[in-house]
Amino acid sequence: MERTGILNGRECSLRVREEIKKEVEELKRAGRGVPGLAVVLVGDNPASRVYVGQKEKACHEAGFGSYLYRLPEGTTQEELLSLVEELNGKEEVHGILVQLPLPGHIDSDRVLEAISPAKDVDGFHPVNMGHLVTGLPCTEPCTPKGIMYLLESYGIGLEGKKAVVLGRSNIVGKPIAHMLLSKNATVTICHSRTPDIGSYTREADIVIAAVGRPRFLGADMVKEGAVIVDVGINRLEEGLVGDVDFEAVKDRVSWITPVPGGVGPMTIAMLLLNTMEAFRSSTKEQ
Ligand code: NAP
Repeated sequence: MERTGILNGRECSLRVREEIKKEVEELKRAGRGVPGLAVVLVGDNPASRVYVGQKEKACHEAGFGSYLYRLPEGTTQEELLSLVEELNGKEEVHGILVQLPLPGHIDSDRVLEAISPAKDVDGFHPVNMGHLVTGLPCTEPCTPKGIMYLLESYGIGLEGKKAVVLGRSNIVGKPIAHMLLSKNATVTICHSRTPDIGSYTREADIVIAAVGRPRFLGADMVKEGAVIVDVGINRLEEGLVGDVDFEAVKDRVSWITPVPGGVGPMTIAMLLLNTMEAFRSSTKEQ
């Protein structure tokens, strides 16, 4: 078999970010304003702090306006909803991202629904989700969008392929299943109640692993020559580990994403792209 190819999300994401940066420089030269992203962080979750820091840094590097709202753990739902409302009305804010998870006393669904769908750069609003499922234009969620972008940039065809998605979350599993379907793959979704998951993955041309279980997908679960996308980010003492047993699987498959350096950097690049697209639409409307 030919050597396994690495789907290098870091490299691919840098190209996307470079293009966005150039577009922003042109906008600045033309005095047409710049895209602005507001990020809202409630409480002190360490992983969330890291993610928010990465997003802020990416915004600065792209030349975007970046507005960080750090709210205390005890923020009430009403206070958060009124901030979202305020941000919906701010002209310089084209994208709003409320970092999840929110503290237990806040109803995340209500907060996500309060974000204007036009500024919902995470793509989690039910209007955007509904449009995604029905095939209407929408803001696609960043992680699945990044996966599709990565597969496309490596010329990996999806039409007629058997794709198995491990996980059915609203942010990864469900949307990526629909996006693969829209590219004419035949899609199966497995989850915690699926018996004998290997019997599905061994038949798959493409596996998207998003279960949040370290090294869940082993060598005996993949077909030779398959394409493997590892979404998992598991923080172990030894460092970051994906949902795929990379070392065991890598020599059997044709393409595989590493962790880190695969899907993660693509997610951030797609957040910038979604914000850029929201900016473009807002200026078109004027
Ligand atoms: P999630 O909301 O916890 O969902 C996990 C899914 O996996 C659920 O559908 C669950 O099934 C399923 N599952 C859990 N254990 C399983 C098992 N033993 N066998 C089969 N299915 C199982 O997680 P998520 O938000 O989708 O994230 C998944 C992973 O991706 C996490 O490691 C997360 O950190 C990572 N992630 C990475 C990025 C990135 O940018 N790279 C972005 C988002 C998430 P049930 O529905 O039946 O419970």
